[in-house]
Amino acid sequence: MTSPTPSITVVGAGLAGSEAALAAARLGVRVDLYEMRPKVMTLAHRSGNFAELVCSNSLGGQGELQAKGLLQSEMRAVGSAVLESADASRLPAGGALAVEREAFSQRITDAVRRHPLITVHGEEVTELPVGLCVIATGPLTAEVLSGELARLTGDEQLAFYDAAAPVIAFESINMDIVFRAGRYEQSADYLNCPMNKEEYDAFYAALEQARSHTPHDWEKLEFFEGCMPIEEIARRGKDTPRFGPMKPRGLTDPRTGRWPYAAAQLRQEDQEGRMWSLVGFQTGLKWGDQLAVVHLIPGLENAEIVRYGVMHRNTYLNAPKVLEADLQLKLRPGTFVAGVLAGTEGYLESAATGWLAGTNAARAALGLGSIVPPQESMLGGLTRYLASANPKNYQPMNVNWALVPELPVPEGRKKLGKREKRPVLYRLGLNAFVTWARDAGLDVTEPTPIEPPRAAEETAEPVLR
Ligand SMILES: Cc1cc2nc3c(=O)[nH]c(=O)nc-3n(C[C@H](O)[C@H](O)[C@H](O)COP(=O)(O)OP(=O)(O)OC[C@H]3O[C@@H](n4cnc5c(N)ncnc54)[C@H](O)[C@@H]3O)c2cc1C
Repeated sequence: MTSPTPSITVVGAGLAGSEAALAAARLGVRVDLYEMRPKVMTLAHRSGNFAELVCSNSLGGQGELQAKGLLQSEMRAVGSAVLESADASRLPAGGALAVEREAFSQRITDAVRRHPLITVHGEEVTELPVGLCVIATGPLTAEVLSGELARLTGDEQLAFYDAAAPVIAFESINMDIVFRAGRYEQSADYLNCPMNKEEYDAFYAALEQARSHTPHDWEKLEFFEGCMPIEEIARRGKDTPRFGPMKPRGLTDPRTGRWPYAAAQLRQEDQEGRMWSLVGFQTGLKWGDQLAVVHLIPGLENAEIVRYGVMHRNTYLNAPKVLEADLQLKLRPGTFVAGVLAGTEGYLESAATGWLAGTNAARAALGLGSIVPPQESMLGGLTRYLASANPKNYQPMNVNWALVPELPVPEGRKKLGKREKRPVLYRLGLNAFVTWARDAGLDVTEPTPIEPPRAAEETAEPVLR
């Protein structure tokens, strides 16, 4: 008698779930895939197709200067269905990987539906499945399942709303101006950007002028005091930010020996202190305007935003509290989580974590241990961040260069420029990823050499909402 084919369940056929199902099936594991659309629709999806792109049609900037470019190459190397489909349905978009959205999701839908090892169930899942599974129900997870997840992880570990402040790369902060201190000489955990009256006036004027993104009808923005956007605080009066998140009291600037007129504070986001978020600066400002306003803060004049502030509906877990780096729930071994629900942000990040969760769930079904990509790779950096970030006010994360280890700075140099170090980080990351995947016994396609991006295309591709 032959033993039955090992199997797993995948819930949600979005970017993460489709990739998870196909990754598991590629390893010879049978998959029961549950997708509630089109029977039950979300407020953002428009079709019954899998891997639907709900907003922009871009999977991010390409090439060796882009963090998303590295992740795309890693995913291509392990045969990602999302990358295969993106490459087949791409549209000209300068340095970005943009796709013809219907063709893109149709191709993935066909690949999933035609796979002999995948059985699609057009049903809403209302309980966490028994046995090995991947939960990839996304930012608009249906209510009953959200309730189940909240019950399992604890209410406070599941968020339904993303009110995020910009996160800034430490290396772009001007420490000749910014000082490290806590209020009233308490532990010096914060970075403080001091402002005099003229600087505050200029900042306030720019904030008043800055344009907010217009919420779509599926995103009714209801602010509660704790997560009021900075532009809304400013609307209440010129001094309101100065008595709120920009309060200078107790922050003695070592250069003047006095409290400044106003101060913006930054709080550490990752263990190494390479990413810092602006405290109380949750914002729905358009990305260009957001960057311009941040650049008016003394010490942040050249700040690189690695994750822009957003205000929108989002269901996600407090990843560092509840997830292992292999994307398994600490409290429920055998249940893997992927996509936005796992605390990532972005189409590409969702697909990549889907691939890893599907691979690990399938490996468990085959009696093999979990694998986690190396730290030098973008996927390894992202999954390690999910498991180890600061759990206080955790916000979903996009990939960025601060997720992978820094290159040593040669003696006699203060720092390395982006154009110098990113191509090196790209090659180190991709090599480490490919070697790791081969060692893990996965099918690997030799990465093709990439074309250098043109200068005008080097800016990170914003997530358009
Ligand atoms: C409105 C909005 C706009 C966004 N715009 C962008 C953008 O422009 N660019 C970008 O990179 N990222 C964007 N994101 C963030 C994110 O990248 C996408 O939401 C991405 O689709 C997430 O992938 P996912 O697989 O986690 O979730 P999804 O792609 O949403 O897939 C989840 C699937 O699970 C299904 N599902 C939910 N609950 C159940 C259930 N109980 N039973 C069965 N099926 C269920 C849903 O129908 C859906 O098909 C946006 C997010 C939102 C909410």
